[in-house]
Parts: sequence; C-alpha cells; structure tokens
Amino acid sequence: MSAKILDGVALAAQIKSRIADTIATNSLEVGLAVVLVGDDPASRIYVNHKKKDCDECGITSHEYLLPASATQAQIIELVAALNADADINGILIQQPFPKGIDVVAVNEAVSPLKDVDAFRAETVGRIAVGDYDAPSSGQSPLSSTFLPCTPAGVMELIKSSGVQIAGKECVVIGRSNIVGKPMALMLLNESGTVTICHSKTRDLAEVTRRADILVAAVGVANLVKADMIKEGAVVIDVGMNKGADGKLCGDVDFAEVSKVAGWITPVPGGVGPMTRAMLMQNTLTAYSLQNGS
Ligand code: NAD
Repeated sequence: MSAKILDGVALAAQIKSRIADTIATNSLEVGLAVVLVGDDPASRIYVNHKKKDCDECGITSHEYLLPASATQAQIIELVAALNADADINGILIQQPFPKGIDVVAVNEAVSPLKDVDAFRAETVGRIAVGDYDAPSSGQSPLSSTFLPCTPAGVMELIKSSGVQIAGKECVVIGRSNIVGKPMALMLLNESGTVTICHSKTRDLAEVTRRADILVAAVGVANLVKADMIKEGAVVIDVGMNKGADGKLCGDVDFAEVSKVAGWITPVPGGVGPMTRAMLMQNTLTAYSLQNGS
C-alpha cells in the first residue's frame, strides 16, 4: 500500500488565497508585528517565510529586531508598545528565546486581542473548555478566537483527508504547551479517543499501533517507524529535524511509513506551510476582533 500525500503547500495556498480575497475585497489594512530576539539562523528563516506569507495575503509585516543581549524587561517594553499601536493587529514573538528569558512572562504580555500565536494561557484554556469556533475548510477564514497555529494547521490537514475524527483512536506523541497538549485537546473536542505519549511513555509502539490518526510532535529524526503504524492510518509529522544527511526531516520515517499509512504529510511541505497559513488566519481574525467586523 502507498499512502496518499497530504499536501500542506497546496492547502496553505488555498487558505492564503481566501485570506487575500477577504483583505482585498474589503480594502482592509492588516498589520502583523514579528519580533526576533537574537540571531538564531533557523528563526531568521522562519521569519522570512512569514514575511513572504504576509506579502501573499496583503498583510503588512513590521519586523522588530532585538539583540540576543536584550533583557526580558526590554522585550516586554516592546510588546507593550506594540499592544498600543493601532497599526499592529497581531504580535508574533519568534521562539526560541535566548537563555534567561521567561517565555511565559513574555507570552502573557501580549494583548489578548493580538495573541496570534495563541500561546497565552487564557487562549489555551479556551481550547481546554472547548470555547472556540474553528473555521472549517472552504468557508470564511474568520474564527471567533485564536487557535494555536500548528495544531490548527494539523486539524485542517486531517480534515482534508476526509477521514472523520469522531470515534477514532487518535495518538499524539509530544506534550508541549504549543503543540502536543493543544493538539490533543482539539482532537478530543472533535470526539476523538485521544492518547498522549511523551518521553516517559513505556511502550510507544504498542500505543501508536492503535492509532487511526497519529500526530508526531517530538523533535527526534525518524523516530516513528513502519512497524509502529496501523495499516491505513493518517500520519501527521510535525517534527522539524536535521537528518544524518544534514537535510530537513520529520519525526516519521517517511519512506517506510508511507508504505503502511493511508495518508501522510511530507517534511518539508506538510505541517510547516499550514502553521504559517493559520498565523495569517489568526492575524485576520485579530483585525476583525479589533475592528468589530
Ligand atoms: P518540545 O521539545 O517542547 O516537546 C517535545 C515532546 O516530545 C515532549 O513532550 C517530550 O516528552 C516528547 N518526547 C521527546 N522524546 C520522546 C520520545 N523518545 N518518545 C516519545 N516522546 C518523546 O517540542 P515542540 O515545541 O512540541 O516541537 C516538537 C517538534 O515539532 C520539533 O521538531 C519542532 O521543531 C517541531 N515543530 C514544528 C512546527 C511546524 O510548523 N512544522 C511547529 C512547532 C514545532
């Protein structure tokens, strides 16, 4: 069996095109602030991609560079200024931060109306209690609140497969606050039977083999092998790792797993572009929340 590819580039292009249409048709002036602290080369690449996405959608991106030596107080001072700036609808602070910066304190400093990364505890809490209205594929790009970009992008990819989530065994590998935990909650909210695995899980393969839908968000190259997969499963690879050959690869052994899975996302070209499309969607939602439209 050969898995069908879930093409994140194509799906992201559709979503960005709907966003661009909404912005152009209504002559909206939407602005996203992107804050980069330090000179991490990978972060620089991600920020450049986000700028390109903004250009495609008709969103103005405003870039703010702080040196790696910036203090937490300086970062929060910048965030406060951006919170008060009417030209800025969304604030994204590229992570990881240099050592010594309290990630939670910086995330919490972002206005709830501009939290387009959806990292604030309140936003994650809304997902925990199911208090959100996710935009569904093919419809308006607006939602009533922000969803964390990576899990929201994964949900869109799963939905694009046509596989129903309700009642399915869903396994998420990874329990981080930005991917694994909200991912599991969003699958639960769609009535999946959800199991979360992590670094202390005793027999990972025994759990993953039960999965009709498997989401790997670990950060270990090629951790997920073909003998860990149920035949026909939907396999979503969030991981972004450097392989032995120095090239970008995911958490899933794509060549082998694609022989067993029913659906699979490639790396690159799967979750990454969808994460960024969801950031654009959240930025438009932020504009709408701030302007009552
Ligand atoms: P993280 O390091 O915060 O969390 C990793 C999780 O994996 C932890 O919960 C840990 O318990 C678990 N884990 C570690 N080793 C394990 C093992 N051997 N077996 C089972 N579980 C194990 O990472 P994160 O921020 O959640 O990101 C995970 C991966 O996803 C990284 O590769 C990151 O680069 C990538 N990522 C990609 C996107 C995207 O847009 N494509 C977005 C965010 C993160």
